Amino acid sequence: MIENNEMIEPGWKFDNSYVRLPQLFFTEQQPTPVHAPEMIIFNTPLAQSLGLSANTLNTEEGLAVFAGNHVPVGAVPLAQAYAGHQFGYFNRLGDGRALLIGEHITPHGERFDIQLKGSGRTPYSRGGDGRAALGPMLREYIISEAMHALGIATTRSLAVVTTGESIYRETELPGAVLTRIGASHIRVGTFQFAAQFGTVEDIRALADYSIQRHYPGIYDHENRYLALLHEVIKRQAALIAKWQLVGFIHGVMNTDNMAISGETIDYGPCAFMDRYDPATVFSSIDRDGRYAYGNQPRIGAWNLARLAEALLPLIHEDEEQAVAMAEDAIADFIELYHVNWLEGMRAKLGIFNEELEDSSLVEGLLSMMKKYDADYTNTFRALTLDQREATALFDSVEYAEWHERWQARLGRQKQSITDSQQLMKNSNPAIIPRNHRVEEALEAAEKGDLTVMERLLHVLANPFTYSEEQVEYISPPPADACPYQTFCGT
Ligand code: AMP
Ligand code: MG
Repeated sequence: MIENNEMIEPGWKFDNSYVRLPQLFFTEQQPTPVHAPEMIIFNTPLAQSLGLSANTLNTEEGLAVFAGNHVPVGAVPLAQAYAGHQFGYFNRLGDGRALLIGEHITPHGERFDIQLKGSGRTPYSRGGDGRAALGPMLREYIISEAMHALGIATTRSLAVVTTGESIYRETELPGAVLTRIGASHIRVGTFQFAAQFGTVEDIRALADYSIQRHYPGIYDHENRYLALLHEVIKRQAALIAKWQLVGFIHGVMNTDNMAISGETIDYGPCAFMDRYDPATVFSSIDRDGRYAYGNQPRIGAWNLARLAEALLPLIHEDEEQAVAMAEDAIADFIELYHVNWLEGMRAKLGIFNEELEDSSLVEGLLSMMKKYDADYTNTFRALTLDQREATALFDSVEYAEWHERWQARLGRQKQSITDSQQLMKNSNPAIIPRNHRVEEALEAAEKGDLTVMERLLHVLANPFTYSEEQVEYISPPPADACPYQTFCGT
Protein backbone atom coordinates (compact mmCIF):
# COMPACT_ATOMS: atom_id res chain seq x y z
CA MET A 1 0.00 0.00 0.00
CA ILE A 2 1.23 3.48 -0.81
CA GLU A 3 1.11 5.57 2.34
CA ASN A 4 3.11 8.62 1.43
CA ASN A 5 1.00 11.23 -0.29
CA GLU A 6 3.95 12.30 -2.46
CA MET A 7 4.20 8.78 -3.84
CA ILE A 8 0.82 9.14 -5.46
CA GLU A 9 1.37 12.69 -6.54
CA PRO A 10 4.77 13.29 -8.14
CA GLY A 11 3.47 16.61 -9.44
CA TRP A 12 2.09 15.71 -12.86
CA LYS A 13 -0.44 18.18 -14.12
CA PHE A 14 -1.62 17.03 -17.49
CA ASP A 15 -3.51 18.88 -20.12
CA ASN A 16 -3.98 17.40 -23.55
CA SER A 17 -4.51 20.25 -25.95
CA TYR A 18 -3.30 18.19 -28.91
CA VAL A 19 -6.42 16.02 -28.78
CA ARG A 20 -8.47 19.13 -29.44
CA LEU A 21 -6.93 19.40 -32.92
CA PRO A 22 -8.79 17.76 -35.82
CA GLN A 23 -8.69 13.97 -35.61
CA LEU A 24 -6.50 13.82 -38.72
CA PHE A 25 -3.46 14.89 -36.68
CA PHE A 26 -3.20 11.99 -34.22
CA THR A 27 -4.34 8.58 -33.10
CA GLU A 28 -4.96 7.82 -29.46
CA GLN A 29 -2.75 4.92 -28.53
CA GLN A 30 -1.61 3.30 -25.29
CA PRO A 31 2.05 2.38 -24.81
CA THR A 32 2.81 -1.33 -25.04
CA PRO A 33 3.79 -2.58 -21.58
CA VAL A 34 7.22 -4.11 -21.17
CA HIS A 35 8.37 -7.14 -19.31
CA ALA A 36 10.98 -6.09 -16.78
CA PRO A 37 11.80 -2.38 -16.77
CA GLU A 38 14.85 -1.02 -15.06
CA MET A 39 15.86 2.60 -14.50
CA ILE A 40 19.16 3.36 -16.21
CA ILE A 41 19.33 7.10 -15.80
CA PHE A 42 17.05 9.73 -14.35
CA ASN A 43 17.49 13.49 -14.70
CA THR A 44 16.86 14.93 -11.25
CA PRO A 45 17.51 18.63 -12.06
CA LEU A 46 15.20 18.44 -15.07
CA ALA A 47 12.45 16.78 -13.01
CA GLN A 48 12.78 19.53 -10.44
CA SER A 49 12.61 22.27 -13.06
CA LEU A 50 9.37 20.69 -14.30
CA GLY A 51 7.91 20.80 -10.80
CA LEU A 52 8.03 17.01 -10.48
CA SER A 53 9.14 15.21 -7.36
CA ALA A 54 12.41 13.54 -8.23
CA ASN A 55 12.17 11.36 -5.11
CA THR A 56 8.89 9.93 -6.28
CA LEU A 57 9.74 9.54 -9.93
CA ASN A 58 13.11 7.91 -9.36
CA THR A 59 11.30 4.87 -7.95
CA GLU A 60 9.10 1.99 -9.08
CA GLU A 61 6.31 4.45 -9.73
CA GLY A 62 8.36 6.58 -12.09
CA LEU A 63 9.82 3.49 -13.69
CA ALA A 64 6.34 2.22 -14.56
CA VAL A 65 5.52 5.54 -16.22
CA PHE A 66 8.81 5.83 -18.10
CA ALA A 67 8.52 2.25 -19.34
CA GLY A 68 4.98 2.76 -20.61
CA ASN A 69 3.57 0.27 -18.09
CA HIS A 70 1.50 2.89 -16.32
CA VAL A 71 -0.16 5.97 -17.77
CA PRO A 72 -0.42 8.76 -15.20
CA VAL A 73 -3.88 10.04 -14.31
CA GLY A 74 -4.99 12.79 -16.66
CA ALA A 75 -2.69 11.84 -19.54
CA VAL A 76 -4.14 10.87 -22.92
CA PRO A 77 -1.38 9.10 -24.88
CA LEU A 78 -1.38 9.57 -28.62
CA ALA A 79 0.77 9.11 -31.68
CA GLN A 80 1.17 12.22 -33.81
CA ALA A 81 0.68 12.12 -37.55
CA TYR A 82 3.16 13.95 -39.77
CA ALA A 83 4.85 13.75 -43.10
CA GLY A 84 8.25 14.91 -44.23
CA HIS A 85 10.90 15.16 -46.86
CA GLN A 86 13.48 12.53 -46.01
CA PHE A 87 16.70 13.28 -47.91
CA GLY A 88 14.57 15.34 -50.28
CA TYR A 89 11.81 12.78 -50.85
CA PHE A 90 8.32 13.27 -49.49
CA ASN A 91 6.90 10.53 -47.25
CA ARG A 92 3.89 10.04 -45.04
CA LEU A 93 5.26 9.35 -41.57
CA GLY A 94 4.06 9.81 -37.98
CA ASP A 95 5.21 8.61 -34.57
CA GLY A 96 6.13 5.04 -35.38
CA ARG A 97 7.89 4.36 -32.12
CA ALA A 98 6.98 7.29 -29.92
CA LEU A 99 3.94 8.47 -28.03
CA LEU A 100 2.99 11.83 -26.68
CA ILE A 101 1.88 10.80 -23.20
CA GLY A 102 0.47 14.21 -22.47
CA GLU A 103 1.35 17.86 -21.97
CA HIS A 104 2.58 18.63 -18.49
CA ILE A 105 2.00 22.10 -17.09
CA THR A 106 4.77 23.23 -14.73
CA PRO A 107 4.11 25.29 -11.59
CA HIS A 108 5.23 28.31 -13.67
CA GLY A 109 2.51 27.59 -16.20
CA GLU A 110 4.84 26.37 -18.95
CA ARG A 111 3.61 23.53 -21.14
CA PHE A 112 5.88 20.62 -22.08
CA ASP A 113 5.28 17.49 -24.13
CA ILE A 114 6.11 14.31 -22.26
CA GLN A 115 7.02 11.84 -24.96
CA LEU A 116 8.05 8.22 -24.70
CA LYS A 117 10.40 7.11 -27.46
CA GLY A 118 10.58 3.36 -28.01
CA SER A 119 7.19 2.68 -26.41
CA GLY A 120 5.81 0.21 -28.94
CA ARG A 121 4.04 0.07 -32.26
CA THR A 122 1.52 2.65 -33.43
CA PRO A 123 -0.65 2.94 -36.54
CA TYR A 124 2.28 4.86 -38.09
CA SER A 125 4.91 2.18 -37.44
CA ARG A 126 4.85 0.83 -41.01
CA GLY A 127 7.25 -2.15 -40.91
CA GLY A 128 8.99 -1.07 -37.70
CA ASP A 129 8.84 -2.71 -34.28
CA GLY A 130 8.09 0.52 -32.43
CA ARG A 131 11.06 -0.06 -30.19
CA ALA A 132 14.43 1.55 -29.53
CA ALA A 133 17.77 0.22 -28.34
CA LEU A 134 19.60 1.28 -25.21
CA GLY A 135 22.69 2.73 -26.94
CA PRO A 136 20.87 5.25 -29.17
CA MET A 137 18.52 6.32 -26.36
CA LEU A 138 21.45 7.01 -24.03
CA ARG A 139 23.17 8.78 -26.91
CA GLU A 140 20.16 11.09 -27.27
CA TYR A 141 20.21 11.63 -23.51
CA ILE A 142 23.89 12.61 -23.47
CA ILE A 143 23.86 14.83 -26.55
CA SER A 144 20.57 16.60 -25.81
CA GLU A 145 21.67 17.38 -22.25
CA ALA A 146 25.05 18.59 -23.56
CA MET A 147 23.25 20.84 -26.06
CA HIS A 148 21.11 22.27 -23.28
CA ALA A 149 24.22 23.00 -21.23
CA LEU A 150 25.73 24.72 -24.28
CA GLY A 151 22.76 27.09 -24.26
CA ILE A 152 21.19 25.65 -27.40
CA ALA A 153 17.41 25.22 -27.63
CA THR A 154 16.65 21.51 -27.52
CA THR A 155 14.29 18.82 -26.38
CA ARG A 156 15.59 17.29 -23.16
CA SER A 157 15.86 13.86 -21.64
CA LEU A 158 14.16 12.98 -18.38
CA ALA A 159 14.91 9.27 -18.14
CA VAL A 160 16.08 6.19 -19.96
CA VAL A 161 14.81 2.79 -18.84
CA THR A 162 15.56 -0.62 -20.23
CA THR A 163 12.61 -2.85 -21.02
CA GLY A 164 14.00 -6.26 -20.12
CA GLU A 165 13.22 -7.24 -23.71
CA SER A 166 15.57 -7.68 -26.63
CA ILE A 167 15.15 -5.92 -29.92
CA TYR A 168 16.64 -7.09 -33.17
CA ARG A 169 18.63 -4.88 -35.51
CA GLU A 170 21.78 -6.27 -37.08
CA THR A 171 22.29 -7.97 -33.73
CA GLU A 172 20.23 -8.57 -30.61
CA LEU A 173 20.18 -5.43 -28.47
CA PRO A 174 18.69 -4.40 -25.13
CA GLY A 175 15.42 -2.50 -25.64
CA ALA A 176 14.97 0.88 -23.97
CA VAL A 177 12.56 3.79 -23.69
CA LEU A 178 13.61 7.43 -23.52
CA THR A 179 11.36 10.02 -21.90
CA ARG A 180 11.75 13.16 -23.94
CA ILE A 181 10.62 16.62 -22.88
CA GLY A 182 9.92 19.21 -25.55
CA ALA A 183 8.19 22.55 -25.96
CA SER A 184 6.13 20.58 -28.49
CA HIS A 185 6.68 18.04 -31.23
CA ILE A 186 5.04 20.04 -33.99
CA ARG A 187 7.28 19.76 -37.00
CA VAL A 188 7.59 21.35 -40.42
CA GLY A 189 6.41 17.91 -41.49
CA THR A 190 3.21 18.29 -39.44
CA PHE A 191 2.30 21.27 -41.64
CA GLN A 192 3.25 19.34 -44.77
CA PHE A 193 0.97 16.54 -43.58
CA ALA A 194 -1.90 19.00 -43.14
CA ALA A 195 -1.32 20.54 -46.56
CA GLN A 196 -1.10 17.19 -48.31
CA PHE A 197 -3.79 15.17 -46.56
CA GLY A 198 -6.07 17.75 -44.94
CA THR A 199 -8.19 20.76 -45.85
CA VAL A 200 -7.30 24.43 -45.61
CA GLU A 201 -9.26 24.43 -42.33
CA ASP A 202 -6.97 21.69 -41.00
CA ILE A 203 -3.89 23.72 -41.87
CA ARG A 204 -5.49 26.74 -40.21
CA ALA A 205 -6.29 24.75 -37.07
CA LEU A 206 -2.68 23.57 -36.83
CA ALA A 207 -1.32 27.06 -37.50
CA ASP A 208 -3.60 28.68 -34.91
CA TYR A 209 -2.68 25.99 -32.42
CA SER A 210 1.06 26.48 -33.06
CA ILE A 211 0.72 30.25 -32.72
CA GLN A 212 -1.15 29.95 -29.44
CA ARG A 213 1.38 27.51 -28.13
CA HIS A 214 4.65 29.04 -29.28
CA TYR A 215 4.05 32.55 -30.57
CA PRO A 216 1.05 33.96 -28.71
CA GLY A 217 2.30 37.51 -29.29
CA ILE A 218 1.46 37.35 -33.01
CA TYR A 219 -2.08 36.02 -32.64
CA ASP A 220 -3.60 39.43 -33.34
CA HIS A 221 -1.18 40.25 -36.13
CA GLU A 222 -2.98 41.37 -39.31
CA ASN A 223 -1.53 38.34 -41.15
CA ARG A 224 -0.72 35.95 -38.37
CA TYR A 225 0.17 33.07 -40.71
CA LEU A 226 2.84 35.08 -42.48
CA ALA A 227 3.98 36.23 -39.03
CA LEU A 228 4.18 32.58 -37.96
CA LEU A 229 6.45 31.82 -40.90
CA HIS A 230 8.64 34.80 -39.95
CA GLU A 231 8.84 33.68 -36.32
CA VAL A 232 9.83 30.12 -37.19
CA ILE A 233 12.42 31.49 -39.61
CA LYS A 234 13.84 33.70 -36.85
CA ARG A 235 14.07 30.82 -34.36
CA GLN A 236 15.61 28.45 -36.88
CA ALA A 237 18.13 31.06 -38.02
CA ALA A 238 19.20 31.52 -34.40
CA LEU A 239 19.23 27.77 -33.76
CA ILE A 240 21.24 26.71 -36.79
CA ALA A 241 23.72 29.55 -36.18
CA LYS A 242 24.28 28.10 -32.71
CA TRP A 243 24.81 24.63 -34.15
CA GLN A 244 27.44 26.01 -36.52
CA LEU A 245 29.15 27.95 -33.75
CA VAL A 246 29.75 24.80 -31.66
CA GLY A 247 30.33 22.44 -34.59
CA PHE A 248 27.15 20.41 -34.11
CA ILE A 249 26.02 18.30 -37.05
CA HIS A 250 22.40 17.18 -36.79
CA GLY A 251 22.89 14.51 -39.42
CA VAL A 252 19.32 14.07 -40.56
CA MET A 253 17.72 17.46 -41.15
CA ASN A 254 14.64 15.98 -42.78
CA THR A 255 11.62 18.28 -42.60
CA ASP A 256 10.03 15.94 -40.05
CA ASN A 257 13.01 16.60 -37.79
CA MET A 258 12.64 20.40 -37.75
CA ALA A 259 10.53 21.76 -34.89
CA ILE A 260 8.20 24.74 -35.16
CA SER A 261 9.26 25.69 -31.60
CA GLY A 262 12.85 26.24 -32.72
CA GLU A 263 14.22 23.42 -30.56
CA THR A 264 16.73 20.87 -31.79
CA ILE A 265 14.84 17.57 -32.11
CA ASP A 266 15.46 13.97 -33.09
CA TYR A 267 18.96 13.07 -32.10
CA GLY A 268 19.79 10.22 -34.40
CA PRO A 269 23.04 10.26 -36.31
CA CYS A 270 24.14 13.64 -34.92
CA ALA A 271 27.73 14.27 -33.86
CA PHE A 272 30.16 17.08 -33.12
CA MET A 273 32.88 17.96 -35.60
CA ASP A 274 36.49 17.51 -34.49
CA ARG A 275 38.70 18.89 -37.29
CA TYR A 276 37.19 21.93 -38.96
CA ASP A 277 35.90 20.95 -42.38
CA PRO A 278 32.59 22.19 -43.81
CA ALA A 279 32.25 18.89 -45.70
CA THR A 280 32.13 16.86 -42.47
CA VAL A 281 29.46 14.13 -42.47
CA PHE A 282 29.21 11.35 -39.90
CA SER A 283 25.97 9.65 -40.86
CA SER A 284 26.42 6.38 -42.70
CA ILE A 285 23.27 6.97 -44.74
CA ASP A 286 24.18 10.52 -45.83
CA ARG A 287 26.22 9.39 -48.81
CA ASP A 288 25.95 12.62 -50.79
CA GLY A 289 26.68 14.88 -47.84
CA ARG A 290 23.27 16.55 -48.05
CA TYR A 291 23.41 17.19 -44.31
CA ALA A 292 27.13 18.00 -44.06
CA TYR A 293 28.16 20.62 -41.50
CA GLY A 294 28.59 23.38 -44.08
CA ASN A 295 25.22 22.62 -45.72
CA GLN A 296 23.08 22.97 -42.61
CA PRO A 297 22.10 26.63 -43.13
CA ARG A 298 21.15 25.98 -46.76
CA ILE A 299 19.11 22.93 -45.75
CA GLY A 300 17.45 25.02 -43.06
CA ALA A 301 16.28 27.42 -45.76
CA TRP A 302 15.11 24.53 -47.93
CA ASN A 303 13.07 23.06 -45.07
CA LEU A 304 11.54 26.43 -44.25
CA ALA A 305 10.52 26.79 -47.88
CA ARG A 306 8.54 23.55 -47.43
CA LEU A 307 6.85 25.11 -44.39
CA ALA A 308 6.08 28.22 -46.44
CA GLU A 309 4.51 26.09 -49.18
CA ALA A 310 2.25 24.40 -46.67
CA LEU A 311 1.15 27.79 -45.31
CA LEU A 312 0.52 29.40 -48.72
CA PRO A 313 -3.29 29.08 -48.70
CA LEU A 314 -3.38 30.88 -45.35
CA ILE A 315 -0.90 33.60 -46.23
CA HIS A 316 -2.95 35.14 -49.03
CA GLU A 317 -6.01 34.09 -51.00
CA ASP A 318 -4.26 35.06 -54.22
CA GLU A 319 -1.65 32.37 -54.79
CA GLU A 320 0.78 34.60 -56.67
CA GLN A 321 0.80 37.14 -53.87
CA ALA A 322 1.14 34.40 -51.27
CA VAL A 323 4.16 33.01 -53.10
CA ALA A 324 5.81 36.43 -53.33
CA MET A 325 5.28 37.05 -49.60
CA ALA A 326 6.60 33.60 -48.67
CA GLU A 327 9.63 34.00 -50.91
CA ASP A 328 10.49 37.31 -49.24
CA ALA A 329 10.28 35.63 -45.84
CA ILE A 330 12.53 32.75 -46.90
CA ALA A 331 15.04 35.19 -48.38
CA ASP A 332 15.33 36.71 -44.89
CA PHE A 333 16.47 33.42 -43.44
CA ILE A 334 20.00 33.37 -44.86
CA GLU A 335 20.51 37.01 -43.93
CA LEU A 336 19.22 36.42 -40.39
CA TYR A 337 21.28 33.28 -40.09
CA HIS A 338 24.39 35.17 -41.12
CA VAL A 339 23.74 37.98 -38.64
CA ASN A 340 23.32 35.45 -35.81
CA TRP A 341 26.39 33.53 -36.87
CA LEU A 342 28.62 36.58 -37.20
CA GLU A 343 27.46 37.90 -33.85
CA GLY A 344 28.36 34.53 -32.32
CA MET A 345 31.73 34.44 -34.08
CA ARG A 346 32.57 37.94 -32.85
CA ALA A 347 31.88 36.74 -29.31
CA LYS A 348 34.04 33.65 -29.89
CA LEU A 349 36.87 36.03 -30.78
CA GLY A 350 36.21 38.41 -27.87
CA ILE A 351 34.84 41.17 -30.08
CA PHE A 352 32.12 43.40 -28.65
CA ASN A 353 31.47 45.96 -31.38
CA GLU A 354 31.02 45.67 -35.15
CA GLU A 355 33.41 46.42 -37.96
CA LEU A 356 32.96 45.77 -41.65
CA GLU A 357 36.12 43.64 -41.76
CA ASP A 358 34.94 41.20 -39.07
CA SER A 359 33.59 38.67 -41.55
CA SER A 360 36.93 38.47 -43.29
CA LEU A 361 38.78 38.14 -39.97
CA VAL A 362 36.60 35.15 -39.08
CA GLU A 363 36.83 33.63 -42.54
CA GLY A 364 40.61 34.04 -42.39
CA LEU A 365 40.76 31.95 -39.23
CA LEU A 366 38.39 29.29 -40.53
CA SER A 367 40.24 28.86 -43.79
CA MET A 368 43.52 28.36 -41.89
CA MET A 369 41.80 25.85 -39.63
CA LYS A 370 40.66 23.96 -42.70
CA LYS A 371 44.07 24.14 -44.36
CA TYR A 372 45.95 22.89 -41.26
CA ASP A 373 43.35 20.30 -40.14
CA ALA A 374 42.86 22.15 -36.88
CA ASP A 375 40.45 20.92 -34.24
CA TYR A 376 37.51 23.34 -34.21
CA THR A 377 36.73 23.40 -30.47
CA ASN A 378 40.32 23.26 -29.29
CA THR A 379 41.45 26.08 -31.56
CA PHE A 380 38.91 28.42 -30.00
CA ARG A 381 39.79 27.02 -26.58
CA ALA A 382 43.46 27.85 -27.13
CA LEU A 383 42.61 31.36 -28.33
CA THR A 384 40.45 31.86 -25.26
CA LEU A 385 43.22 30.79 -22.91
CA ASP A 386 45.80 32.67 -24.96
CA GLN A 387 47.73 29.44 -25.36
CA ARG A 388 49.62 28.38 -28.45
CA GLU A 389 49.09 24.74 -29.26
CA ALA A 390 51.90 22.70 -30.79
CA THR A 391 50.03 22.29 -34.06
CA ALA A 392 50.70 23.12 -37.70
CA LEU A 393 48.14 25.92 -37.49
CA PHE A 394 49.77 27.71 -34.58
CA ASP A 395 53.25 27.19 -36.06
CA SER A 396 52.34 28.78 -39.39
CA VAL A 397 53.37 32.23 -40.58
CA GLU A 398 49.77 32.84 -41.67
CA TYR A 399 48.62 32.33 -38.12
CA ALA A 400 51.16 34.80 -36.77
CA GLU A 401 49.87 37.37 -39.26
CA TRP A 402 46.26 36.61 -38.46
CA HIS A 403 46.97 36.83 -34.73
CA GLU A 404 48.43 40.30 -35.18
CA ARG A 405 45.39 41.38 -37.16
CA TRP A 406 43.10 39.95 -34.46
CA GLN A 407 44.98 41.68 -31.62
CA ALA A 408 44.82 44.97 -33.52
CA ARG A 409 41.07 44.44 -33.92
CA LEU A 410 40.69 43.85 -30.16
CA GLY A 411 42.65 47.04 -29.59
CA ARG A 412 40.00 49.03 -31.50
CA GLN A 413 37.26 48.50 -28.90
CA LYS A 414 36.88 50.11 -25.53
CA GLN A 415 36.69 46.85 -23.58
CA SER A 416 39.87 45.48 -22.01
CA ILE A 417 41.63 42.22 -22.95
CA THR A 418 40.29 40.76 -19.69
CA ASP A 419 36.74 41.61 -20.82
CA SER A 420 37.44 39.95 -24.16
CA GLN A 421 38.78 36.83 -22.51
CA GLN A 422 35.70 36.60 -20.32
CA LEU A 423 33.44 36.96 -23.37
CA MET A 424 35.42 34.23 -25.10
CA LYS A 425 35.15 31.93 -22.09
CA ASN A 426 31.40 32.39 -22.13
CA SER A 427 31.24 31.75 -25.88
CA ASN A 428 33.73 28.94 -26.51
CA PRO A 429 32.94 25.67 -24.79
CA ALA A 430 35.97 24.10 -23.15
CA ILE A 431 34.37 20.73 -23.78
CA ILE A 432 31.96 19.14 -26.24
CA PRO A 433 30.67 15.56 -26.31
CA ARG A 434 33.52 14.13 -28.38
CA ASN A 435 32.37 11.15 -30.39
CA HIS A 436 34.94 8.74 -29.01
CA ARG A 437 34.10 9.70 -25.44
CA VAL A 438 30.38 9.26 -26.07
CA GLU A 439 31.00 5.84 -27.63
CA GLU A 440 33.20 4.83 -24.70
CA ALA A 441 30.42 5.81 -22.27
CA LEU A 442 27.79 3.92 -24.25
CA GLU A 443 29.91 0.79 -24.51
CA ALA A 444 30.44 0.74 -20.76
CA ALA A 445 26.74 1.39 -20.11
CA GLU A 446 25.71 -1.46 -22.39
CA LYS A 447 27.93 -3.72 -20.27
CA GLY A 448 26.25 -2.47 -17.11
CA ASP A 449 28.83 0.11 -15.99
CA LEU A 450 27.12 3.51 -15.85
CA THR A 451 29.96 5.37 -14.16
CA VAL A 452 31.72 6.36 -17.40
CA MET A 453 28.54 8.00 -18.71
CA GLU A 454 27.80 9.67 -15.39
CA ARG A 455 31.25 11.27 -15.31
CA LEU A 456 30.89 12.40 -18.90
CA LEU A 457 27.49 13.93 -18.17
CA HIS A 458 28.95 15.66 -15.15
CA VAL A 459 31.73 17.41 -17.09
CA LEU A 460 29.41 18.23 -20.01
CA ALA A 461 26.94 19.95 -17.69
CA ASN A 462 29.15 23.06 -17.38
CA PRO A 463 30.96 23.47 -20.69
CA PHE A 464 32.06 27.05 -20.07
CA THR A 465 33.77 26.60 -16.70
CA TYR A 466 37.19 25.58 -18.02
CA SER A 467 37.62 23.32 -14.98
CA GLU A 468 40.53 20.97 -14.33
CA GLU A 469 38.36 17.87 -14.53
CA GLN A 470 37.41 18.77 -18.10
CA VAL A 471 40.96 18.69 -19.38
CA GLU A 472 41.12 14.94 -19.96
CA TYR A 473 37.99 15.20 -22.15
CA ILE A 474 39.33 17.75 -24.58
CA SER A 475 41.56 15.52 -26.69
CA PRO A 476 40.33 14.80 -30.20
CA PRO A 477 40.20 11.14 -31.23
CA PRO A 478 43.64 9.61 -31.86
CA ALA A 479 44.89 10.37 -35.38
CA ASP A 480 44.84 6.67 -36.29
CA ALA A 481 41.21 6.17 -35.17
CA CYS A 482 38.79 4.95 -37.85
CA PRO A 483 36.65 7.72 -39.34
CA TYR A 484 33.67 8.07 -37.04
CA GLN A 485 30.31 6.91 -38.38
CA THR A 486 26.83 7.28 -36.97
CA PHE A 487 23.75 5.25 -37.78
CA CYS A 488 20.16 6.24 -38.19
CA GLY A 489 16.84 4.78 -37.00
CA THR A 490 18.45 2.32 -34.62
P1 AMP B 1 13.65 9.17 -37.29
O1 AMP B 1 14.75 8.71 -38.17
O2 AMP B 1 13.80 8.74 -35.86
O3 AMP B 1 13.34 10.63 -37.43
O4 AMP B 1 12.36 8.35 -37.79
C1 AMP B 1 11.78 8.49 -39.06
C2 AMP B 1 10.46 7.80 -39.08
O5 AMP B 1 10.62 6.39 -38.90
C3 AMP B 1 9.49 8.25 -37.99
O6 AMP B 1 8.20 8.22 -38.51
C4 AMP B 1 9.70 7.20 -36.93
O7 AMP B 1 8.59 7.10 -36.07
C5 AMP B 1 9.88 5.94 -37.76
N1 AMP B 1 10.64 4.90 -37.05
C6 AMP B 1 11.95 4.89 -36.76
N2 AMP B 1 12.29 3.76 -36.10
C7 AMP B 1 11.17 3.01 -35.97
C8 AMP B 1 10.86 1.75 -35.38
N3 AMP B 1 11.78 1.00 -34.78
N4 AMP B 1 9.57 1.33 -35.44
C9 AMP B 1 8.62 2.06 -36.05
N5 AMP B 1 8.85 3.26 -36.60
C10 AMP B 1 10.11 3.75 -36.57
MG1 MG C 1 12.24 11.98 -36.67
